[in-house]
Amino acid sequence: MLADTARFRADDPDPLVIASLACPICLRSDDIEWTAALDGYDPSVACRCPRCQERWRVYLAPHQALRFGLIDVLAD
Ligand SMILES: [Zn+2]
Repeated sequence: MLADTARFRADDPDPLVIASLACPICLRSDDIEWTAALDGYDPSVACRCPRCQERWRVYLAPHQALRFGLIDVLAD
């Protein structure tokens, strides 16, 4: 599985946070399916692009995981 490191700041707005999950192939982030695993030592988000049939994982720094938790609630 491809792996990447998230590139957003804790004070970025939600669209920028979501954009950091963009598909590595088509670079789209609007129809990405993602599942956040924010607990534990190595928080990350498992992503899937239905367009490319590609899966990858984005790893988060601790402050990014806290920020991501705020939109995780909204996405469910
Ligand atoms: Zn894609």
